[in-house]
Amino acid sequence: MTAPTQETLRRGWCPSTLRPMETGDGWLVRLHPPGGRMRPAQLRRIAELADATGNGLVEVSGRGNLQIRGVRPEAHPALVEALLAERLVDEAGGLGPQRLVLSSPLAGQDVGDLIDAASLAASLEHQGRAVSGLPPKTSVIVDGGGALALDGFAADLRLVAIDQGAVVIGLPQGDWLGPVAPDKGGAMAANLLSGLATYRRAEPDTIHRLRDLDDDQVAALIGVCSVSRTQAPAVRPSPRRVGLFALRTSRFALVAGLPFGRSDTRTLSRLSEAASTHGVSEIRFSPWRGLAFLGLEPEDAASLTAQCEELGLITRDDDPRLSVQACSGKQACLRGETRTMDDAAVLAEAAASLLAAGLSLHLSGCVKSCAHAGSADLTLVGHDGCYDVVIGGTTRDKPMARLDLSQIVQRLQPGQDIHTRLTAGRLSGPQV
Ligand code: SF4
Repeated sequence: MTAPTQETLRRGWCPSTLRPMETGDGWLVRLHPPGGRMRPAQLRRIAELADATGNGLVEVSGRGNLQIRGVRPEAHPALVEALLAERLVDEAGGLGPQRLVLSSPLAGQDVGDLIDAASLAASLEHQGRAVSGLPPKTSVIVDGGGALALDGFAADLRLVAIDQGAVVIGLPQGDWLGPVAPDKGGAMAANLLSGLATYRRAEPDTIHRLRDLDDDQVAALIGVCSVSRTQAPAVRPSPRRVGLFALRTSRFALVAGLPFGRSDTRTLSRLSEAASTHGVSEIRFSPWRGLAFLGLEPEDAASLTAQCEELGLITRDDDPRLSVQACSGKQACLRGETRTMDDAAVLAEAAASLLAAGLSLHLSGCVKSCAHAGSADLTLVGHDGCYDVVIGGTTRDKPMARLDLSQIVQRLQPGQDIHTRLTAGRLSGPQV
């Protein structure tokens, strides 16, 4: 098998377990376990397999998928076989195109949820996968109204619970429909996806996402739904991205962030041991690039939090590392021209106040931009040990300067030019 390249990915193709993506440090194998859930022992098995077949680095993506990095092409068949044997592959979604539905890592158990978001997400995933011809990056958010609001994530469609047993459906053009019961909302969303697929088949070169539809096309889609337009739900404050959260069962979940979304397999194994010891019933991936440990008794919650901190995970929401995207860089990738991981830690500290104010910071070891495809308030692109500095753009945009790390740190201080330029414009907020 030949893995598609990053260039292919940019054209709309998505990696999965069976279809890895070629990156600078080998193949990237994306994994989403069935229902997005694992037992602690399965997490340990993933670590063992990532160690045996890859470069020992794993990531959690901004869509809550696990990514095994640096997989050797010759080891890929054995990896897939072992993951299937462990029932770690969602054969409907993991072997095919990208997972369709994103929901909270606490869905179905969050004490604040207004609907059964896990059931609705599973049903919509099933219905959506039956729609042929959907653009490969199509995404739908199911937000149950609980603690982990998903307002900050982009999607083609979003179903948001606004009351007990009632959801509204949002389109990227700003239209909102409903309110309707969750099962009806799921059926309506599936209809909207069918309509998108129809338009896509007719205009494959221009329609890649639902946002590409014109006003007439959107009006026609909405007309088929036979439901009234409604106003947008109230904007909720940005949620805590990590920490302890109450569950319905009088137990708790600990959501912990991996620094820059990445971990080594040794840490992952130790996390799995800690989860077993503390009675964790299931582990899920968080789209805030971490892990959610569910089913904790209060005393276990405090103890597991302390152990996660010891292992270097992020458990405090004011940690600036939560707002930095960084690729593997020179440490793990042949194409890396800078030590992005080390530099990200330095910059997270140097720019802590800017990050707290909403700065989005992206470090890329080269122009390929594996960690973050879009624009950021501050993008740093590795070049021969220095960084090309791009304000408000992507790795391919014109840099304002080429600087080494110490120069960037210095110019990020109040009164210096990079700081001034970043604070003069409106910061776009953390990109997730
Ligand atoms: S962006 Fe980073 S991980 Fe991707 S190829 Fe470049 S250095 Fe490697």
